[in-house]
Amino acid sequence: MMTKRAAATKTKAFTGPLGEELGELRKRALRVLRALRKAYPDAHVPLNYTSALELMIATILSAQCTDERVNEVTAPLFKKYRTAAQWSHIPLPKLEKLIYSTGFFRSKARSIHEATEDIAKFHGGGVPKTMDELLTLRGIGRKSANILIAHAFGGDGIIVDTHFSRISRRLGLTAEMDPTKIEFDLMEIVPRKRWTEFALLLNWHGRVTCYARKPECERCVARKKCPAFETRGAITWKVKIPASKKRSEDKTIWS
Ligand code: SF4
Repeated sequence: MMTKRAAATKTKAFTGPLGEELGELRKRALRVLRALRKAYPDAHVPLNYTSALELMIATILSAQCTDERVNEVTAPLFKKYRTAAQWSHIPLPKLEKLIYSTGFFRSKARSIHEATEDIAKFHGGGVPKTMDELLTLRGIGRKSANILIAHAFGGDGIIVDTHFSRISRRLGLTAEMDPTKIEFDLMEIVPRKRWTEFALLLNWHGRVTCYARKPECERCVARKKCPAFETRGAITWKVKIPASKKRSEDKTIWS
C-alpha cells in the first residue's frame, strides 16, 4: 500500500505535457467540462440498450462498426434473446450469421458466446459489476468495462475511445498514446464523480466538432482552454509514442 508521503510525492510530481501542475490541470479540465456540458446537453450513449447484458453485447459489436449498424442488428436480437443463458445457447455459426454485418463477426460471436456463457455459469446470469470481474469476460477490455460500470451500473468510469484519446491529447491533458495510461492520467485530473460525464462529453465533442482530420476549432466551445486551437488540432508538444508506433516525437502529429 502507498504511504501518505509517497502519495503526496506522486501528486506533487504530476505535471501535464505543457508543464502545468496538477492543480492548474484540474481547473482547466473542469472549465472544459463546463463548456462542453453547456454545448451538449443531449450527449448520450449512442448504442440502444435496456440492460447491462444488452449494453455489453452492443459494446462488443461496436468494435470497428458504426453505432447505427449495431443498433439495427441488435434491435430484433434483443427482443428474441433476453438472458445470458439464451445468448450462450445460440450455436456459433448461427450467431456469426446474425451479427455478420457488424464486421469481425467470428471473433465477436466467440466473445459474445463465451462472455454470456461465463455470466450464466459463474455470475448467476447477471453481468458482473467490478472492473476485475468484467476483465475476465472474453471481449471485454478496460474501455468496455468502463462503459458498463459508467452506463449500466451508474458508477464512475473514464472511457478511453478514439475520440477521448485524441481530444485529451489535443487539450494537453495527457501526453500518452496508450489508452490505459491516458485513463490513469485523466483519473488524476478529473474528479471521480465527473469521470463518466467528462468521458461522454469528450466522446460527443469528437463526433460533432473535434474531428480527427479537420477539427472545427473556430466554433469549438473549448477553444479558449485548448492549446491546440492555434494549430487547428495539431499537437506541437511532445507526446509519448510507444516504440511500436514511433515515428518522430518532435514531429507534429495528428490525432
Ligand atoms: S480548439 Fe480545436 S483541437 Fe481544441 S478541442 Fe476545440 S476543436 Fe478540438
